[in-house]
Amino acid sequence: MAYEGSEDMDLVDALNARLRDAEPQEILRVAVERLGDQLALVSSFGSESAVLLHMVAQIKPDMPILFLDTGMLFGQTLDYRRQLAAKLGLSGVRDLRPQFQDIAIHDPSADLWKTDTDACCNIRKVLPLDRALAGFGGWITGRKRFQGGDRLRLRVVERNEHQIKFNPLANWSKEQIDAYAVEHDLPPHPLVEFGYPSIGCWPCTQPVEEGQDERSGRWAGSQKTECGIHMPRATPTLEVGGDI
Ligand code: SF4
Repeated sequence: MAYEGSEDMDLVDALNARLRDAEPQEILRVAVERLGDQLALVSSFGSESAVLLHMVAQIKPDMPILFLDTGMLFGQTLDYRRQLAAKLGLSGVRDLRPQFQDIAIHDPSADLWKTDTDACCNIRKVLPLDRALAGFGGWITGRKRFQGGDRLRLRVVERNEHQIKFNPLANWSKEQIDAYAVEHDLPPHPLVEFGYPSIGCWPCTQPVEEGQDERSGRWAGSQKTECGIHMPRATPTLEVGGDI
C-alpha cells in the first residue's frame, strides 16, 4: 500500500502518536512488523551503538545494518564493527564505501576535510547512504534527544522525504543507555575510555572534557554539528502497509 503527500504525514504522525512514549524494543517491533525486509538500521558502531545493535539482534538478527566506512574511520572503529557484529550474531552488516569516481574527482588527496567538511561528508557519507537506502522503505537511527543541538526536538517517528525513520532511543537518557549496556555486558567502543563520547572520522573527532556536551568533539571549532545524512532531500513515495 502506497502513501503519498499528506497521507504520508498522516501515517507518520499516527505512528509517532502511538509510539512516542513506547520503550525502544516496542518501537523496533512495530517498525519490523510494518516494514519487514524493507527496514534497515544505520549504525556508526560508535560509542553507544551496541545498545541498539543488541536490541535488533534479539528481534531480527538478519536485519540489514548499514555501516558507513568513509575511509577516514579510526582503526579501532573498524575492529569494533567486526567484533561486535560477530558477538551479537548480526548477519546483515553491509559496509558502505564512497564511490571511486567521487573520490577521484573531488578528494584525490584525501584532504577535502581540511577545506570543505560538507563536501567531504557528502561524498563519503550522504551519497553512499542514499544509494544504499534507495532499496528500503524505512530506517532506524540511534539518535537521542539528550545529545542536544537539533536532536533536542527529535521525534520517535519522522519522515525524511525518502523514507520513514524510527528513532527508538529518542526518549532514553544517557543513564538508561549506560545501564542497558552494563546489564547486557556489552563491550564499549575502545576509544570511550580515552575521552571520546561520540566517535566519527578521525580528522573530525576529538576527545572532550568531563561535563562537556558529548558531541562537542565532532567538527570542533566549526559551526558544523551534523554530517548531513539526516538533512531533508528529495521526495519519493513511501511504501508502508497495514493499519496504524
Ligand atoms: Fe570527511 Fe570529516 Fe565528514 Fe568524515 S566527518 S566524511 S573526514 S568531513
